[in-house]
Amino acid sequence: EALEEQLAPAGAGSAMSSNWVVHKFGGTSVADAGHYRRVVDVLAGAPGERKAVVVSAMKGMTDELLGLIDRAEAGDDYRPGLEAIRARQWEAYSDLLGDDAPALDDDIKDLGDLLRGAQLVGSADGPVRDVVSGMGEIWSARLLTRFLQSQGKTVQMVDARQFLVVEPGEMGPVVDWDDSQELLSEAGGDDPSEYWVFPGYVARRSSGRPATLGRNGSDYSAAIVGRLLEAEAIHIWTDVDGVMSADPRLVTDARLLSSISYDEALELAYFGAKVLHPQTLAPAIQSDIPVHIRNTFAPEKKGTRIGSGSTGRFEIKGITAVRDVALINVEGTAMVGVPGTARRLFGALKRGNISVVMISQASSEHSICVAVQGPAARSAVELLREEFDDELRGGKLQSIEQQRNLAVLAVVGDAMAGQPGVAARYFSALGDAGINIHAIAQGSSERNISAVIHADDAERGLRAVHSAFYLSPQTLSVGIIGCGNVGGVLIDQIQGELDSLLAESQLDIRVRAIARSRTMLLADRSIDLSSWREELADAGEEADLDKLVDHIHDDHIPHAVLIDCTASEEVALRHADWLARGVHVITANKKGCSAAMPYYQSLREARAGGGSRYLYETTVGAGLPVVQSLRDLRKTGDRVLCVEGIFSGTLAYLFNLYDGTRPFSELVREAWKKGYTEPDPRDDLSGTDVARKLVILAREIGNEIELEDLSVSSLVPEELSGGSVEEFIDGLAAHDQAMQQRFEEARSQGQALRFVGRVADGEQGVVGLTAVDQNHPFAGIDLTDNVVRYVTERYCDNPLVVRGPGAGPEVTAGGVFADLLRLSSMLGAQV
Ligand code: ADP
Ligand code: ASP
Ligand code: MG
Repeated sequence: EALEEQLAPAGAGSAMSSNWVVHKFGGTSVADAGHYRRVVDVLAGAPGERKAVVVSAMKGMTDELLGLIDRAEAGDDYRPGLEAIRARQWEAYSDLLGDDAPALDDDIKDLGDLLRGAQLVGSADGPVRDVVSGMGEIWSARLLTRFLQSQGKTVQMVDARQFLVVEPGEMGPVVDWDDSQELLSEAGGDDPSEYWVFPGYVARRSSGRPATLGRNGSDYSAAIVGRLLEAEAIHIWTDVDGVMSADPRLVTDARLLSSISYDEALELAYFGAKVLHPQTLAPAIQSDIPVHIRNTFAPEKKGTRIGSGSTGRFEIKGITAVRDVALINVEGTAMVGVPGTARRLFGALKRGNISVVMISQASSEHSICVAVQGPAARSAVELLREEFDDELRGGKLQSIEQQRNLAVLAVVGDAMAGQPGVAARYFSALGDAGINIHAIAQGSSERNISAVIHADDAERGLRAVHSAFYLSPQTLSVGIIGCGNVGGVLIDQIQGELDSLLAESQLDIRVRAIARSRTMLLADRSIDLSSWREELADAGEEADLDKLVDHIHDDHIPHAVLIDCTASEEVALRHADWLARGVHVITANKKGCSAAMPYYQSLREARAGGGSRYLYETTVGAGLPVVQSLRDLRKTGDRVLCVEGIFSGTLAYLFNLYDGTRPFSELVREAWKKGYTEPDPRDDLSGTDVARKLVILAREIGNEIELEDLSVSSLVPEELSGGSVEEFIDGLAAHDQAMQQRFEEARSQGQALRFVGRVADGEQGVVGLTAVDQNHPFAGIDLTDNVVRYVTERYCDNPLVVRGPGAGPEVTAGGVFADLLRLSSMLGAQV
């Protein structure tokens, strides 16, 4: 402290020319007695300057005081509330100063009188409201003054109600600088104290009547004091590390902005970043004083510097939301090419003292859309209907309507100017998150693009846009239905890559639901994938797909994805509903896109309606790029003439093994026992599974085809279609002879037996056992290989062949995972 005293130029000449630094502490910094101690420490950490300390009321105090007025006006009993306020304030005083609570009881008595008056009259006018609501700041300033003095500092309190002169203006209170300057010289005098303590928020009119600077106004007080004292810097101390790229309460990954320009800060504050009152910067800009936003609870951090010029590699600095906004739409021919319409419109709103948040007009001039604060919407519509009464009657204006419950989402950044593609990225981020845009505006400074969206979408929109500009990772809310072979392996595979996807690709995959037929597991943030099996066994709740989908389709996370790893028709028939709700669906389950045509159509419409994606690469050929290749061919203008192939890993395996030395039925029995077939091998041998896959491919090349349209030659003899599996395999022995004969016949021609599906452009398609030449690509395959051959206009003499393992949990799960990454990249992630 000795050093501090030496450095402090106490009593150095006139107040106005000294090295003043303003420190403003918000309500969050002075919530209770312990906080005041911290404030004193923070101040002591900045020696060598004269300190102008501006304080807010204790956290929540202004709300409580305003609440008392409301109660009094409504005729309710305000006294218990008043007593609670006294007690809270007393507690802080007595904790810090012993029993010394200067003037508190007198103030409480005065407040009681004012409130009683308000109760009798049934209303409180402006000055009463200002006196009552400003009392919290007065108490705070007195407390801090006395407490600093008790710590041996030289301090004087300077009451802003004496010198800070404002008059109400359209955009809030307007400072009378000359009067304020003069009055401050009187109020402060040439007091040499190291600390001058000012109550924030409160002010006066030139007539002398009390006034306030509006909610959050202590920030503005600090800047005004800064300008009046010609301060070197203004530090706004609060409960966050500085200005963040979005409200950290809504976007947990919000980044700290180390430096932003005055203009950027203005836009952010205007569009709802509560960390700074929008008027704060004007005085700082006028006197070119840098403003620092800093954390009272982490004073070692540098915080955000707001000044002229900014730096940073991001074109977008921040994203904010203003809630409770209404859009007023004025529509009709009266405005086309008629000068002065806009002037009349804004004139009418001005008469009602209604401020306009945002304006947008189409270049056809057929409609103008203005956004105003929700509570002002009704009177805005009334004023406009009055103003344009003639036009409305004469039919030159069709309507003046309001739309409530909206929010304005604004992206802000100096570097956006002249940068193509920013708007596109912004709007597609909203589109991909399924969020509808009601109106758009961009200022010609190109520093801000605003979009009006539904209020319920605000939080999700904020996050979607935040990640679209790489300010935070792209986050997916994922639910996995079916965790048997494929689903289980998929979860393990995802677990293995989570960390590197987050670190390298800024992709945050949150598996928030896992379900199997009877039970499911839901998690708020994400399920711990290292122990999901145990958790599902212990704590799983009863499976309920509706509940699961609601959970995944959360308002907080921009993108929802359901992964269907079941073989259930019931689940597949819900895909369309999910897609229509805007949930992306990835499926290994074939029963959706091979269902009847009307359902297939509805899947398409649902996707279009919900702006969602449907990925089903693994429904054919497991992880092989079968569907994708087909799509690439078609999209690049090739014409697909025929697709044929071996689409069943089980049947491929059986016919690879079958060389006539052992009866076919025995091979079936062995494969069944080893688990290489479906639980009932007839599901493989009947060819239905292959037929489903062929339907999917046929539809992919544009054939409108039903499963029943295919001609399928089943390997299950008619008389064995009922009965148990054992009975079936026993019965199959009676057909070994016939199979042997087909085999010998083929071999004598130099051919091999293969179970093939084939569909050609405009044809119905066939599935069944055929003989192929030994040098045919279908002949020489291994194990459970699938092989698909595309004959197209480009690939006609030498068709394109895709071949490789077409079954097994590892490769299928890998294919599903690849679909998930493909989806992420469609949504803008850099995978
Ligand atoms: P004080 O009482 O210090 O004036 P406020 O509650 O008025 O504090 O403002 C700080 C709060 O502003 C933070 O806790 C944060 O939730 C909110 N906030 C909103 N938008 C932003 C943003 N872009 N950056 C930082 N904080 C923000
Ligand atoms: N106490 C006032 C309010 O809560 C002013 C401020 O804290 O900035 O609005
Ligand atoms: Mg504030």
